[in-house]
Amino acid sequence: MRLTFQPFPIELKHRWTISRGSFDRDTNFLVSIAHEDLTGFGECCSVERYGQSEAVIRRALAMASKLFARRDPWQFQTNTRLLRERVPAVTTVHAAIDMAVKDWIGKKIGVPLYRYWGLESTIAPVSSFSIGIDTTQIIRKKIAETPDDPILKIKLGGQWDEEIMATVRRETSRPVRVDANEGWRDAETAARKIEWLAKMQVEFVEQPLPTGCLDETARLRQMSALPIFADEDCHTAADIPRLSGIYDGINIKLMKAGGLDEARTMIEVAHRYGLQVMLGCMLETSLGITAAAHLAPLADALDLDSHRLLKYDPFCGIEVVQGKISLPSLPGLGVTPRD
Ligand code: MG
Repeated sequence: MRLTFQPFPIELKHRWTISRGSFDRDTNFLVSIAHEDLTGFGECCSVERYGQSEAVIRRALAMASKLFARRDPWQFQTNTRLLRERVPAVTTVHAAIDMAVKDWIGKKIGVPLYRYWGLESTIAPVSSFSIGIDTTQIIRKKIAETPDDPILKIKLGGQWDEEIMATVRRETSRPVRVDANEGWRDAETAARKIEWLAKMQVEFVEQPLPTGCLDETARLRQMSALPIFADEDCHTAADIPRLSGIYDGINIKLMKAGGLDEARTMIEVAHRYGLQVMLGCMLETSLGITAAAHLAPLADALDLDSHRLLKYDPFCGIEVVQGKISLPSLPGLGVTPRD
C-alpha cells in the first residue's frame, strides 16, 4: 500500500486558550492510504503537550510510509504492531494511519465503520460544545453564537475561574461541564472550586489536578462534590486499572489512544472497571471528528466539537444538530472533501 501525507493549515474562529496556553492556528496532516483501486483517509494534529510537534509527526509519517510500502491494509493487526515497535510513542500518527486503514476497509466492503462494528448510530449521547478561556465579552459572544447546543464545556483552571463561571451563568442555564486542564494545584483548592461549581449546576469536572498526582486526586475524590474525569492522566487502556477508584470517568481521544482499535479497547476496559467514558478530541477537522464519532454509540458522554471551532473545515462528515450527531451513511468513515 502507498502511504502519503499532506500538511494543511487550520485556523480557529476565536483564539483558543486553556489553562496551559493559547493559539489561533496550527498545522494538521492528511494521511492517505492507497491500495488497489481505493484510498482511505486519516488525520492527525500536533499535540505539544505530549511532545508530538509538527516536526516529530512529519518524521514519523515518513518512517511509516517506508515501513508500509510492501504491506497490505488487510494485515492491519501486524501493521499496527510493527508501527508501534518501529515508530514508537507518536500516537497522533498511529491514530491517523489507523483511521485511514479503517476508512479503506470500510470502502472495500462497502459498509460504514459503525455498522462494521455492529453499532447503532441512533443511540449516541448528545455532544457538548467547548468554550475556551476568554474575556467576559468574548465568552458572552461565544455562548450567543451557540444557542442550540444543549451542553457547554467550559475551560477553567486559572485565576479567572469565578469571573468566567459567573459570566456563563448570567448568559445561560444550560447544563455545563468544566475542564480544568490540570490547572488546580492541590486537592483542597480543587475541592473548594468543585463545591462552588456544584452550586452552579455543573455536571462534572475534567482533570482538576496535574497529571500523575494520583494520591492527591484520590484525596480530592473523597471531598469532591462532583464526579471527576481523567483526560491528561489517561492515554491508553494500560492507564485505566490504576485510575479506577480515583476517577469516575475518562476522556478518550484518538490522538492520545493511537487509533480506533485502542479507543474501542479503552471503552470496554473502562466500563469493566466501572468508569464512565467520554469521547473527546484535539483540534481536528471533520475527518478526525467523524472517525471518533463512529464510536459514539459506545460512549456515555461526547465532546466532539473541534471541527466547529474552525474558520474553515476542509471536510464534510458528521452533522451536529442541537448536540445530536448524525453519522454519514457512506462506506468507511464517510468523510468527503468540502469542495
Ligand atoms: Mg480535557
